[in-house]
Amino acid sequence: MNLKILPLLVLLIIGLSLFASGCTGPSNSHINESTGQKAEVTGSGEPIIVAVSLLPQAEFVEKVGGDKVKTVVIIPPGADPHTYEPSPRELGEASEARMYVTVGTDMPFEKVWIDRFESINSGTLIVNSSNGIKLRGLVEGENGKAHEELDPHIWTSPVNAKIMVENVYEGLAKIDPGNKTYYAQNRDAYLKELDALDSRIREKLEGKKERNFMVYHPSWGYFAADYNLTMIPVEIEGKEPSAEDLAKLVDLAKEKHVKVIFVQPQSSTQSAKAVAEEIGGEVVAVDPLAKDYIANMDNVSDIFARNLV
Ligand SMILES: [Zn+2]
Repeated sequence: MNLKILPLLVLLIIGLSLFASGCTGPSNSHINESTGQKAEVTGSGEPIIVAVSLLPQAEFVEKVGGDKVKTVVIIPPGADPHTYEPSPRELGEASEARMYVTVGTDMPFEKVWIDRFESINSGTLIVNSSNGIKLRGLVEGENGKAHEELDPHIWTSPVNAKIMVENVYEGLAKIDPGNKTYYAQNRDAYLKELDALDSRIREKLEGKKERNFMVYHPSWGYFAADYNLTMIPVEIEGKEPSAEDLAKLVDLAKEKHVKVIFVQPQSSTQSAKAVAEEIGGEVVAVDPLAKDYIANMDNVSDIFARNLV
């Protein structure tokens, strides 16, 4: 073992303890609707309650549903979607939803939710937002190997976002056919915005020679695939890398001319910082779970463009 990695090991331990203390989840409710009564569809004037797993999905539902819908986000901002467990109260509130839009990539929490929705409230329409998306394996580790586990971060690709929006439309049209035309118009307008976003990203990344990037948590695999980039994750199988793994990552970063390690607000940054220090680079935050999808993706792609040479 190389002596140079001892400071990395210390940082790693500090990082792990910070991580453990920082992931206790939210204290305030993220469920903004608890009428105690299921909204009646069509003509009642009450918005339809639609539950979604993640914030960007709430944006898609609101863009298509407009003032006819109210969203309930099951994974609160800042919580880790891979490990989050809802409280019984949250479950009760979300069960008022007429429709639940899942990510649909076999994430364990969604399976639990679908079962509970079905047992508590058989009237909820489950819409799989990944329907029609070509799913990829979750890439983990310094070798970039794809595991059998599906990569759930489908929304980080605007091309996939368009399919997710289409699936939301199909669901809303099914539970509220009276407003089908309204939903179709909203969908079309938003799909145009997503097309424009996709073109802007392609333009920004055009001509970049070095297309490797390093990221703590492997959220950007679909984004990378669509824009011909290569993602190198720091986190290995959902855990901080070992000192040995870190040393390998440092070598790999040097070899691939990586200067920046991307991190997201939901994950630890200590090992990312450790790698960045070793390569004389820096850690830059990008959030895959922001609600304002288009503004966030413009921002994220600006950051990618600035940091790829
Ligand atoms: Zn994730």
